[in-house]
Amino acid sequence: MSTIAHERFEAVIGLEVHAQLLTKSKAFAPVAAQYGEAPNTQVTPLCLGHPGTLPVVNENLVRYIIKMGLATNCGIAPKSIFARKNYFYPDLPKGYQISQFDTPICHHGYVDIEVDGYEKRIGLTRIHMEEDAGKSIHDQDPYNTLVDLNRAGTPLIEIVSEPDIRTPQEAYAYLTKIKQIVQYLEICDGNMEEGSLRCDANVSVRPRGQKEFGTRTELKNMNSFRNVERAIEFEIYRQIELIEEGGTVVQQTRLWDTNKMQTRVMRSKEEAHDYRYFPEPDLPPIIVSNELLAEIKEELPELADIRQKRFVADYGMSEVDAITLTESRYLADYFEQVAEFTGSAKFAANIVLSEVLRVLNEQSIGIDKFSISAKRLSELVKLKNDDKINSSAMQDIFNAMLENSKTAEELAKEMNLIQVSDSGFLETLVDTIIEENPDEVARFKEGKKQLMGFFVGQAMKASQGKANPKMITQMITKKLEG
Ligand code: ADP
Ligand code: MG
Repeated sequence: MSTIAHERFEAVIGLEVHAQLLTKSKAFAPVAAQYGEAPNTQVTPLCLGHPGTLPVVNENLVRYIIKMGLATNCGIAPKSIFARKNYFYPDLPKGYQISQFDTPICHHGYVDIEVDGYEKRIGLTRIHMEEDAGKSIHDQDPYNTLVDLNRAGTPLIEIVSEPDIRTPQEAYAYLTKIKQIVQYLEICDGNMEEGSLRCDANVSVRPRGQKEFGTRTELKNMNSFRNVERAIEFEIYRQIELIEEGGTVVQQTRLWDTNKMQTRVMRSKEEAHDYRYFPEPDLPPIIVSNELLAEIKEELPELADIRQKRFVADYGMSEVDAITLTESRYLADYFEQVAEFTGSAKFAANIVLSEVLRVLNEQSIGIDKFSISAKRLSELVKLKNDDKINSSAMQDIFNAMLENSKTAEELAKEMNLIQVSDSGFLETLVDTIIEENPDEVARFKEGKKQLMGFFVGQAMKASQGKANPKMITQMITKKLEG
């Protein structure tokens, strides 16, 4: 693919994101909706589509989607209805999914993203409620497909973007933003690998300057943000190449193949579904009163964008540090706890940004899985702040704390790292060093002040790293200059 061709064409991308909500029970049935339980243990007659069963809306489904709508600047419809989306599939015993069609509860929103130093606003067409289907399992029995209906009826929201996205990188940034928002709202855990966030990407290309959109394809089966980015990238090149060679793009659904790093046809438009949507007769309309709206607004947490600005203003940190610390709500909470316990936002930010993030990256975990609590970490920071340990001891104790549950102080004593600030002991030490290094002392007195580092180094060596370097420096200054 030549870059010339890429300069002549522009991609148009719209994303459909499904987020599985963290409600305790299913969307329309009073049964648990937890991930990872034994197959078919979280199932009621309603999930099985038995005649005579009637759905009831889970109130939290409505509250959660309104939270999402408010957090993404959407209008909230005062009245919206559910619709049946009909199709046949073995993991859908009812023969339809309850969804929303022409009256989504949230509409016309936007999120702001930042990519490579530029900011951009991505419009949201709609966010609607939906229930999930069950799961077909193809890899457990060599001859048969097994069906697990635990997931049937779990609540989802579908977030549909406007075709405002232009590059794979923008798509990645948009997904990151959506994930950040659902996590801040605590309505979805945002884990794409486990399927609680799923994304279909609609992609088309057009010659630069052309107003009309080209024919789009819909990409499925990407199980990570990186793969969404890769699949879109591949698809843009495929479409441009096709057009350059005189062909035309066919509207079709394509699957991403991670091993081959390419997309391939799943179905074309001729086989496309006609879902025959019709209003769900067993559920009343969702009425959102002003009172409910006001109540939910009250409950909204401080979102990342605002929190980031506050960190800069309140703690005087750089914007880059504030962005990193507010990336996840729990990391921001963790930092603020350490800042509060230690009384020093600066020290708290330092250790979280360096040591804590290093470990999270090494172990590929989130702060929720991090083994040192904010309180324990604060005790370590305090030891350093109070000059009881030096920087290298802090590092060693930190590493030891990862391995066990002892307090920083216990470890400092056990590892013999408590700094010696006893002035009697330090005086003797300094006197010995001065006595043993007459040449350096003479040169220091002649003005070679850099030798301070040498003296302190000698003191640290003689005390096996435990001398308080600040006090040593003060004593040497006084003795040689005073
Ligand atoms: P469908 O229900 O068939 O998937 P929608 O109208 O709901 O169709 O559109 C789905 C997504 O496709 C939206 O995110 C929208 O922004 C995007 N989209 C629509 N037209 C195009 C296009 N020509 N190129 C890229 N994306 C598009
Ligand atoms: Mg679609």
